[in-house]
Amino acid sequence: MKRLLIDVVVMSLQYAAVLNDIFEHVPTEIPQDIVERVLDGAATVNDASDLLKCDPAAVFKFADILREGLVGNSVSYIINRNINFSDNCTGTCTFCAFREHRGFRMSVDEIAQTADDAVRTGATEVCIQGGLMDDMYLEDYCNILKSIKSRFPQLHIHAFSPMEVFHMSQNSGTSIKDTLVALKNDGLDTMPGTAAEILSDRVRREICPDKLTSSQWINVVETAHRTGIPTTATMMYGHIETMTERIQHILTIRDIQLRTGGFTEFVPLPFMPYNNPLGERLMAEGYYATTGVEDLMVHAMARILLYPHVRNIQASWVKLGKKMAQYALFCGANDLGGTLMEESISKSAGAANGEYMPPEEFQWIIRGAGRDPVQRDTLYRKIVTE
Ligand code: SF4
Repeated sequence: MKRLLIDVVVMSLQYAAVLNDIFEHVPTEIPQDIVERVLDGAATVNDASDLLKCDPAAVFKFADILREGLVGNSVSYIINRNINFSDNCTGTCTFCAFREHRGFRMSVDEIAQTADDAVRTGATEVCIQGGLMDDMYLEDYCNILKSIKSRFPQLHIHAFSPMEVFHMSQNSGTSIKDTLVALKNDGLDTMPGTAAEILSDRVRREICPDKLTSSQWINVVETAHRTGIPTTATMMYGHIETMTERIQHILTIRDIQLRTGGFTEFVPLPFMPYNNPLGERLMAEGYYATTGVEDLMVHAMARILLYPHVRNIQASWVKLGKKMAQYALFCGANDLGGTLMEESISKSAGAANGEYMPPEEFQWIIRGAGRDPVQRDTLYRKIVTE
């Protein structure tokens, strides 16, 4: 008991020292009362709006200081493989360039074979997502999980977006809870927090009217967390959403995290305006893709608004490009995502950054930023290799 008390006191003193350090180094342009609320994990919409009026360089610095205090100077990456098992989809999302792009559907055996390839190349995770199909039932998704887990029990299965879970639950007439329990029992370890787009029903009605609503997304994710299935959190920004809707989205993620603690990371995803109806419409109105400063600002704001509840902010090298993702490490990000080995969703929407980045290149980029590369697993545990 005495030992425990001493540990608590030492940790409190260490935390106080970190907070002091942060206070001392935050640029003077950032109002002190905002810094205090951020450190309390309670920044408001108004705080976010005020920060957006500050010099971006000061906001980047503030986010960088928070990152250093919370997670230190390590930058993580994961050796994983994407398996997008079909681009057949009954969805109507106007930003989607993936649907029916190549017209393919993998069998369960082909999916397991791809997982086999992933294991041979050192992957610790497969990330499995596909389109929505009328003839795919809960049982079919469970068969995918079982065929992989029976061969590779150690391989982490990160699979099925909240939209796919919602779809299989409706198709099979099972509740969200029962659907998630069945998936977990058959090998689902964690889920990607995709299909979030912007958690505003005004925005969703316009860009993805047939997708699950904001509250349905929140319900699937919270139920997953309560079923013992952690998820990532994402935000697809840079289309028709307002700045306030963007901020509200990030604060919604923070609220969920406070209730469940189930998010492993937050991944900002800039909208890719190519080869899809929404992008073509916006570009015809004089819109271009998000700018570099805007992308960096979103990563910095995510670090600030989610501090200290969500520890990991990922810069997606596929969406941002390798050089911009490296620079995001100075604006609050502490993770560069995965090797992927196959990436068809962003590529079909015009991302030009390749399908695979080897671990050595991650290490090169991270060392080039003066940070320490760390291979991690899906739950952000360090992997030590020989
Ligand atoms: S984003 Fe997903 S759900 Fe929407 S149309 Fe594309 S594949 Fe279908």
